[in-house]
Amino acid sequence: MTIDLLLQQWPALLCGAVAGILLTALLAWLLFCLQQKKWQLNVADQLEDSIQQRTLELQITLTELADKNKQLEQQNTRDALTGIRNRAFFDQKMNAEIKRSRRERSTLGLLMIDIDHFKSINDNHGHLVGDLVIKEVASRLQQELKRSTDHLCRYGGEEFAIILPNTDIEGAMQLAEQLRLCLTASPVQHEELELSISASIGCYAAVAEISSISVDYIQAADIALYQAKNEGRNKVICSTLSQ
Ligand code: GH3
Ligand code: MG
Ligand code: MG
Repeated sequence: MTIDLLLQQWPALLCGAVAGILLTALLAWLLFCLQQKKWQLNVADQLEDSIQQRTLELQITLTELADKNKQLEQQNTRDALTGIRNRAFFDQKMNAEIKRSRRERSTLGLLMIDIDHFKSINDNHGHLVGDLVIKEVASRLQQELKRSTDHLCRYGGEEFAIILPNTDIEGAMQLAEQLRLCLTASPVQHEELELSISASIGCYAAVAEISSISVDYIQAADIALYQAKNEGRNKVICSTLSQ
């Protein structure tokens, strides 16, 4: 190529060179965009995976927490010796049932049960045998309850309380008599020992008034229970307080 030809053709050559540079830049830019998009998609995928993983972990933790809560609640409301409901549960349930009785105008029954001459079992055979008798009494009482709404609770030492929603005084008394008989039906057996047992039972039932509290029910059933003790034990007495 001569200098003359170069001088003649330089605008065309310059245009060609510029076009080439622009085309390369465009291609590079397109490639860059494509790469960027790919990277963004990758990051989004990773993020989604990570979120799914975290959600799963959170669900597992929540389930474990709910199980633990349930377990704790069970422990807090169960009596360690007998496995039946404890005093804390009794207090909560009585308050709830009193509210329901008031709201629905339904009769709420309560039985207070006390093992007769229990101290002599401890004194004569030791506390471990005493414990065994308490467990056996709880088990026999529980077996007699057929309604899932009836709640047997260990009120204290050798005393039990049974909450009977929707139960009038006749129904409460009938059940109490059945419970008394199931305790005397056969002795508690332990190795060579055969221990005859009985209990005294006080009953009360009433539709809760606006002012009613659980103490009213407990006191009424307790008065009847002490009367049963005074009248010779192994007896069911109903409260005569107005219902
Ligand atoms: P009553 O016929 O008048 O009811 O007489 P009782 O001997 O049954 O009643 P008392 O209140 O005199 O004695 C109850 C005893 O129960 C006293 C207490 O040491 C014992 N006791 C309380 N809780 C437990 C327990 O968990 N295990 C054992 N083995 N004994 C208990
Ligand atoms: Mg007692
Ligand atoms: Mg007793």
